[in-house]
Amino acid sequence: MATLLWQGASAQNGGPIRLSACCVTRASKNDKTGDCIQYMVSSEAAPPVDAEAGRDACGGCAFLESKVCYVNKSRLRRAWDSNMRAEVEPMATFAARKRVKRVSHRLGMEGDPGSVPKRVWVTFFDTVVPKRWTSFIHNWRERTDEQGTRYPAADPWFAQFSMASVDSVEERTAAKALGFRTARVATAPVELQKGEIVCPAIARDDVTCASCGLCNGRAFGKRTTVKDIVFPAHGNGASKVDAAVAAAEVRNA
Ligand code: SF4
Repeated sequence: MATLLWQGASAQNGGPIRLSACCVTRASKNDKTGDCIQYMVSSEAAPPVDAEAGRDACGGCAFLESKVCYVNKSRLRRAWDSNMRAEVEPMATFAARKRVKRVSHRLGMEGDPGSVPKRVWVTFFDTVVPKRWTSFIHNWRERTDEQGTRYPAADPWFAQFSMASVDSVEERTAAKALGFRTARVATAPVELQKGEIVCPAIARDDVTCASCGLCNGRAFGKRTTVKDIVFPAHGNGASKVDAAVAAAEVRNA
């Protein structure tokens, strides 16, 4: 059963969205992330497999329309159904749960945390006070989808807790100019730029997001490293990523 934390208008397009937490009463079973509370930003209009409704939660993300998004959205149907039946739980009640205090938080199992208004995240961090979390936003800059609809950029304040997901070295430069640390998907041959490291979980089986926690933006000034992260894309996925990046670059030129 998902725990609904907020419902309201998307910062991407004003559509009705919900922020919910999954795996609140049991351990999550994701080998890459480890045991985390998993947060989902989703449209009220339709389950996540519906790409059009997905705009409410994901805006103009090139990976949504190109269908190379790494999230297996068909698996989220049950979580979405549960979310739609839930009543909002006050943030303070949620924060008081033992597991919420204890484990890591993955703020974007589905959807872009940048679709949720800044004031909601301010309340979240003031109330829940997570010790460890990961977060990635795609709308760190304005984006345009293939129909020409424009989606606004999130406030650069999001850099305090979230990485900017970038698809090229040029995007990384632009995101860093706004104050973000970056998480870059790179296709072969991967050339690390100054200040970048490959996600440790890719090279080592004993590392998960829950144990690593590097992808938490600027951690509200508490971060001691400014390393940016690179995710190498492999196989068939690599060519799809290349195509999505090329399409996004044309639109954003
Ligand atoms: S760098 Fe760490 S927190 Fe970021 S994705 Fe990799 S394992 Fe997770």
